[in-house]
Amino acid sequence: MDAGTFAGVKARLQHQYTNNSIEYVKKAMDFGARLKTKVTTLSSPDALADLEIPGRFPYDSGGARPMAVSPVTQEATCTVCGTCAGVCPTAAISIDESVATRIELCIRCCACIKNCPTNARVMEDSAWKAIATWLNENCSARKEPHIFVD
Ligand code: SF4
Ligand code: SF4
Repeated sequence: MDAGTFAGVKARLQHQYTNNSIEYVKKAMDFGARLKTKVTTLSSPDALADLEIPGRFPYDSGGARPMAVSPVTQEATCTVCGTCAGVCPTAAISIDESVATRIELCIRCCACIKNCPTNARVMEDSAWKAIATWLNENCSARKEPHIFVD
């Protein structure tokens, strides 16, 4: 992609992002206005009707599954610049003659991957890659906010 094409794509994405943000703010303001009307016109707190809200409830117990996974460093392309250690929010990365990562501290935020100037930080774990693929396939489409005020 040449510089002109890149600039065009960037401008289009920024425009789309700004339009989406304005739309979401409008929806949030509309929700606030409807909520205010609802609350200020209630005869009493007991007059609130039970809302039927779709969704998966009760939620699965257990929360997030622990994973002993972190990005790794490809030594062939690592320049030991230390950028990854500087951006890691949990101090999981230390730099000596090479890059060391403490998996137990990693929260898999991928800041080290995004900021590595030589793309030497990568996620190689196959289970993680499978999750990323699933998310890309199932969660890439835009979802509209659902607002429930009866
Ligand atoms: S940011 Fe990339 S190149 Fe720099 S030390 Fe970390 S892995 Fe190596
Ligand atoms: S993924 Fe986030 S928490 Fe884990 S090593 Fe990289 S920057 Fe640190």
